[in-house]
Amino acid sequence: MKILKFGGTSVGSPSAIEHVINIVQKNLALDKKIIVVCSAMVEVTNKLLQAGELAATSNTNYTEIIQEIETKHIETIKKFINPHDQSKVIARIKCLITQLEDLLQGIFLLHDFSLRSQDLILSFGEQLSCYIISEIMQNANITAKFVDSRDLIKTDSNFGNARVNFELTNKNLAQFIQQLNYVPIITGFIASTIDNETTTLGRGGSDYTASIIGAGVHAEIIEIWTDVDGVMTADPRYVKNAFTIPNISYQEAMELSHFGAKIIYSPTLYPAFINNIPIQVKNTFNSTHPGTLVSEKSELSESLGKGISSINKVSMLTLRGAGMIGVPGFLGKVFTTIAQKNVNVILVTQASSENSICIVVDSKDGLTIENTINQEFANEINWGKMDKVVAKFNLSVVSIIGQGMRKASGILGKIFAALGKNGINIIAIAQGSSELNISLVVDNFELNKSLNVIHEALFDADLKTLNLFMVGVGRIGSTLLKQIQETSKYLLKEKNLKINIIGLANSKKMLIHHTEINLSSWQDKLANAATSVDMSKFVIKMQQLNLPNTVFIDCTSNKNITSYYEEILSANISIVTPNKLANSSNYAEYKNLEQLATKNKVKFMYETNVGAGLPVINTLKNLKFSGDRILKIEGVLSGTLSYIFNNFKGDKTFSQTVEEAKHNGYTEPDPRDDLNGTDVARKILILARETGSKMELSDVKLANILPEVCRNAKTIPDFFAELEKNNHIFEEQKKLAEQKNNVLRFIAKYENGEASVGLEMVDSTHPFYFLSGSDNIIAFTTERYKERPLVIQGPGAGAEVTASGIFAEVIAISSYLSK
Ligand code: ADP
Ligand code: ASP
Ligand code: MG
Repeated sequence: MKILKFGGTSVGSPSAIEHVINIVQKNLALDKKIIVVCSAMVEVTNKLLQAGELAATSNTNYTEIIQEIETKHIETIKKFINPHDQSKVIARIKCLITQLEDLLQGIFLLHDFSLRSQDLILSFGEQLSCYIISEIMQNANITAKFVDSRDLIKTDSNFGNARVNFELTNKNLAQFIQQLNYVPIITGFIASTIDNETTTLGRGGSDYTASIIGAGVHAEIIEIWTDVDGVMTADPRYVKNAFTIPNISYQEAMELSHFGAKIIYSPTLYPAFINNIPIQVKNTFNSTHPGTLVSEKSELSESLGKGISSINKVSMLTLRGAGMIGVPGFLGKVFTTIAQKNVNVILVTQASSENSICIVVDSKDGLTIENTINQEFANEINWGKMDKVVAKFNLSVVSIIGQGMRKASGILGKIFAALGKNGINIIAIAQGSSELNISLVVDNFELNKSLNVIHEALFDADLKTLNLFMVGVGRIGSTLLKQIQETSKYLLKEKNLKINIIGLANSKKMLIHHTEINLSSWQDKLANAATSVDMSKFVIKMQQLNLPNTVFIDCTSNKNITSYYEEILSANISIVTPNKLANSSNYAEYKNLEQLATKNKVKFMYETNVGAGLPVINTLKNLKFSGDRILKIEGVLSGTLSYIFNNFKGDKTFSQTVEEAKHNGYTEPDPRDDLNGTDVARKILILARETGSKMELSDVKLANILPEVCRNAKTIPDFFAELEKNNHIFEEQKKLAEQKNNVLRFIAKYENGEASVGLEMVDSTHPFYFLSGSDNIIAFTTERYKERPLVIQGPGAGAEVTASGIFAEVIAISSYLSK
């Protein structure tokens, strides 16, 4: 005998139900005797609960919820059942819905939604789904029958979380299988008392139903069919790199589920364990995947840990006081006090930094326990033997589980190092008494990051992950995305580096995907994104997701974006950007960003501010760090102006040269934005600041090369017309240069604490004389490079080279993430 249990998502949609029919048919084809247990359709239990709560507060909106539930079920019937058989099935559903409505009407009138009536209301979810599934199975020529588990599973009257009477239940089950000549479709989750009052086995309890039945009928295996590939190293909704655990012991699975892994409801493991029945957890939507086998055996994994789980929204109470800790009977009294309030203690920990005891309970119980303990120990508090207890809220528990933990001397070190590097504060630590788990208390806010960081440290020993949020997907941004897409496979295989694009924004829309955005279709996804761009929301979301190794990439040239840098760095997020507006704004801002990055142990990287992908800023930094002294910086720092003056020769007039540059895509739409030299001034300012200068942009001497009429021209065509009229000015300069065998170059310079930008003549001994195309060139004259300056030359503009400069810095960040 085999038990097949299908969860809410597995019976929650027509395509899922198709899979279920297939799985059942395959088993029958192999002549297997099977029992099927099903949950309510996905979300139905939550909706029933909501309806009950609304009714109890006299809110008539509950009727809409019931309507929704009815429609969902009737639509399913219409999809699967032959038209001429439909009316009987629909009539039965309507009858159940009417019963449900009557009950809710009672709750509405009495304002009473006790656990007893709650269980009754919730039972309709499983009644509806299992009845429909049984009819669908019959329609697919399977001899199936609806079976109400309330006739089989008997419990006490602890409504909401009833305890099973195994003696009675097993008797019923033994009888039940004697005449079993059909496939029973049994309601999960629900049971009944000896007086036939409806009870439930706790949320997620259908798994338990399967196990109770499996034990009662001595099944050879219990299969739990769900929506993921088995029990994984962590909840895949939060940890993208989680992977299936092929084998896990009952005890390990129990710990994982006890500490929050929803994949198996923890009481499920007990009957299976006692009767030594293996549980196979499999994916309804990927049925050929072997999933996870839960049995007595556990294979020791290399990482020692088996999996990570978490409970969010817990509250912690710290008991402190020289007169209390270590006094016999003290803790006993504390726990008795808590037990009297019927509150479950999730764990007891030794705080990481203090000699005190912490008790962790569900958030909803925090205040009750605070008051109870303070009342119970009022005397001790008054006498100064014990501090008043204050509940701390908004915390989470992260548990690392595995048999290997028994020998895990190194494991804590690994976890601490990884958390420390990511700026995560551990509030308390506990090693479970079973020695199968280590639990940490962290801020709720840090939960997601903690899970990922610990997972990476324990399970992806060599894998490094970067989570990128990118703003600006124009030429540079989109080229960067293309480069990332092209190289991602190589980086993963050869460098163990996984790059996830989590967020994207342009000037209109923003798109944030908790689990990376598929780069093959990012343009469509962004264009069709539901959310209009709102930078402050984008930044908040980035912080809320709180993923490890987050990098913000600003590919805009927008001042509004740089205004968020401070907030981003303060949130432990690195920044990589070609946008030079932050570094060339006032000195205090520039310095503040540098200091914030250092303080928060993140990177602020902006190599592409000057010379696109050329290693200009890094070279300068290295010269400085290695003790050299910078005497002079000279450079042609604009690809556009480089192109214009490198091509302004022979018979060509200046206006023709500018027009040609514009035509070839080398200039801004309005070439004056290049010719006015401000952009170059910003670049030399950034270089000067890198040498230690505190200068401001207004200190850079900017020689205007355009006559006033050109500068003031209203439109671009007007500008060109004026420029043509003034060609003689440039012609004279060119002639003068030619007479001396010199050439004209637009040079930025920093020397003796002064920076300047302007047109200059250089002779053939100057390193800039032979510059061609749109190349940039920078010469550093230093104490060490005095005779011949250190020259860096190459393409200093263009989407490809700028994007690859940004990419190089992103990859460089990964090497700081050493384990
Ligand atoms: P069902 O409705 O089939 O009972 P549940 O929603 O109760 O399914 O449980 C399956 C979900 O459990 C998965 O979708 C996953 O998000 C979550 N989950 C939590 N921890 C784990 C884990 N360690 N491995 C796999 N899934 C997990
Ligand atoms: N339908 C119930 C719940 O949502 C039981 C289950 O899904 O296992 O809690
Ligand atoms: Mg479940």
